Amino acid sequence: MRDFLEAIRSGASGEDLANVPLPETYRAALVRKDETEMFAGMPSEEKDPRKSVHIEEVPIPELAPDEAYVAVMASAINFNTVWTSIFEPLPTFGFLQRLGKESRWGARHDLPYHVVGSDAAGVVIRVGSAVRNWKPGDRVVVHCNYVDDQDPSAHDDSMLASNQRIWGFESNFGGLADLSLVKANQLMPKPTHLSWEEAAANALCNSTSYRMLVGRHGAVMKQGDVVLIWGATGGLGGYAVQYVLNGGGIPVGVVSGPDKAEILRELGCEAVIDRKEKGYRFWSDDHTQDESEWRRLGKDIRALVGEDPNIVFEHPGRQTMGASVFVAARGGTIVTCAATSGYMIEYDNRHLWMKLKTIKSSHFANYKEAWEANRLIAKGKIQPILSMVYPLDQTGDAAYQVHHNLHEGKIGVLCLAPEEGLGIDDPEFRAAVGEDRITLFRRRGA
Ligand code: NDP
Repeated sequence: MRDFLEAIRSGASGEDLANVPLPETYRAALVRKDETEMFAGMPSEEKDPRKSVHIEEVPIPELAPDEAYVAVMASAINFNTVWTSIFEPLPTFGFLQRLGKESRWGARHDLPYHVVGSDAAGVVIRVGSAVRNWKPGDRVVVHCNYVDDQDPSAHDDSMLASNQRIWGFESNFGGLADLSLVKANQLMPKPTHLSWEEAAANALCNSTSYRMLVGRHGAVMKQGDVVLIWGATGGLGGYAVQYVLNGGGIPVGVVSGPDKAEILRELGCEAVIDRKEKGYRFWSDDHTQDESEWRRLGKDIRALVGEDPNIVFEHPGRQTMGASVFVAARGGTIVTCAATSGYMIEYDNRHLWMKLKTIKSSHFANYKEAWEANRLIAKGKIQPILSMVYPLDQTGDAAYQVHHNLHEGKIGVLCLAPEEGLGIDDPEFRAAVGEDRITLFRRRGA
């Protein structure tokens, strides 16, 4: 893949790129099927991605007619790579096996290794015979909605497709590699004012937050809504705060620690709760929740903004869901897309039905939502939240940071890009958006 890097850096045309010979193998971050039991019996926090994620050369898979190869310049860590690397809640090889049974093309994915990663920015180097809108040389970002668009269940909202998958998590050949195999309909134009690693950090979390708050399938926030955002400087939360501010809402951001609180204020979120400082104990033991602690959180929110949240942006799951349902305003919505701290959820149903609240589920984003969310990045209306950058060789270390909540925003990974800061095609627009805004998390990160 070095030849592609040289060609891209020297400004080779699409035609030239299409003539660079493909190597037989490429460098990839992967987990191995024969190691899925390596952490058996250990508590989650001791399962170490640095031990399970390997960097290896793997063969280039065959290209289907509706697919493209992307020379990946940079990628990013998502929590799904943490799940894959600790084999929780299940090893992802089951997903690959199921995909393998679907078709001849699906069978390519069922391998004894899983190349992970659900974000990427790079350059198209080959397209299949049925690809019409993209060509070698196009500079792209990749969204992770992996759908067979010939299936009628995908036609209205592609997230409802019966065979909907997350690329690089439920499919193989993900973005944490020097090359990736994607469906052409996952490609989106790379925002011209961002570097490769800034561009690569957004698609998964940004699109997810867009659907949860802005798109018509989520909580559909309106001007003036108070929105409680858990993990407000995390991957999802860092975009959610920006969507609430852009849409005329009032964010109440929850974080752990003064540094994160400071970032949040700089982002424009005035109402900040440091959950560590407050020391909430929503669970008094493993089986019992403490309503007085929910009430204390509710009071803290009212003290800051004078009202209860119309929307709660929920993803920590078991630890917070009881509180989230309790603090939401009468008629409010709790929109949830995850359960980091446990998926067996408990809340007091009386607070839900008596106050006519709604729990709304959400998952990634359909094509349209992903495209709209990317457009907002490209127009400089939503900023990347990249805080740290690792080389591909240290993907396990990067995933470890996210697993242990040692990061803010997003962690980028340099794949083919040899250093940070490359790939900015429109420095004038970058200056107009503002270097300080684009690099807020990076300046604060390690
Ligand atoms: P991050 O780790 O970047 O951020 C999550 C933040 O949540 C943390 O930084 C932390 O912030 C906060 N948090 C973690 N545990 C708790 C807890 N017990 N109580 C309160 N707050 C907590 O992860 P992401 O934002 O990228 O992802 C969050 C979850 O969403 C993951 O489980 C991920 O798999 C899932 N996800 C789902 C998607 C979907 O499409 N369904 C898409 C993207 C992510 P702090 O310590 O500052 O409070």
